[in-house]
Amino acid sequence: MATLGIPANTIAVLQKYNFNFQKKYGQNFLIDTSVLDRIIGAADITKDDLVVEIGPGIGTMTQYLCEAAREVVAVEIDKNLIPILDDTLSSYNNVTVINEDILKVDIEKLAKEKNGGAPIKVVANLPYYITTPIIMGLFESHVPLDSITIMVQKEVADRMQVGPGTKDYGALSLAVQYYANPEIIANVPPNCFMPRPKVGSAVIKLTRYSEPPVEVKDEKLMFRLIRASFNQRRKTLVNGLTNGGIEISKEDLVKILEEMGLPATIRGEALTLEQFATLANKMKN
Ligand code: SAM
Repeated sequence: MATLGIPANTIAVLQKYNFNFQKKYGQNFLIDTSVLDRIIGAADITKDDLVVEIGPGIGTMTQYLCEAAREVVAVEIDKNLIPILDDTLSSYNNVTVINEDILKVDIEKLAKEKNGGAPIKVVANLPYYITTPIIMGLFESHVPLDSITIMVQKEVADRMQVGPGTKDYGALSLAVQYYANPEIIANVPPNCFMPRPKVGSAVIKLTRYSEPPVEVKDEKLMFRLIRASFNQRRKTLVNGLTNGGIEISKEDLVKILEEMGLPATIRGEALTLEQFATLANKMKN
């Protein structure tokens, strides 16, 4: 039975193993059963699913995942947590713990071996210092993916969900929205964790699109345009791109913008994903 969501049980495990939190690994363990229930509910896990958990900690959410899923693979970087996980997960026979940095794990191979190449679900209370590389790594690789349901810093969840015209809109918004439909599930205050993080958190579910919502001839070019525009977000799009190493003359760029019905003075932060796609396609031509 899942027992670790209750603070007293988490404290007992930490004391038993004399565990010291490692700040560099972003260790903030969940101690709120209602938040755990919300995450598991939103992730929509069935007994057919292979779930990959990033950073199981002492195994709090892992216990819930083991009960809901067919099989769980949990990847934890901190070797001091491995004997603890052996203990807290001892009553489950459908879990494998891998002591490794998630950024070094070949998840595509893992999905092939353990799930016959069928789409996996990723669930995690993420270490916040590597949120973006983890998410982009999953999307940009060829991992067959159904959804990613994750706890992230509240501000980052907002960034993933917004569109043009807000200060949070940026390269991360566009990248996430190219690959997935983002949906904020819950806001989670610091007191739901041990130790308490300094920032607010949110659970967000990213449901992978089977086809991207826009047609792009050259994805790499579109993402170069996006990065160049937001690197110099206070400049006009024309200056941002031409100073940002994109090979096009100002005149040609202004002409393309005109064709798109956009003024030459527009900033990149005003463009939608669809407009970035159109711009990339026109430049490709
Ligand atoms: N899932 C647990 C929970 O909810 O209580 C712990 C979440 S804690 C926010 C993040 C976890 O990720 C920690 O256990 C930390 O050691 C682990 N972690 C940090 N960096 C990692 C990495 N590069 N690869 C795998 N795990 C990592």
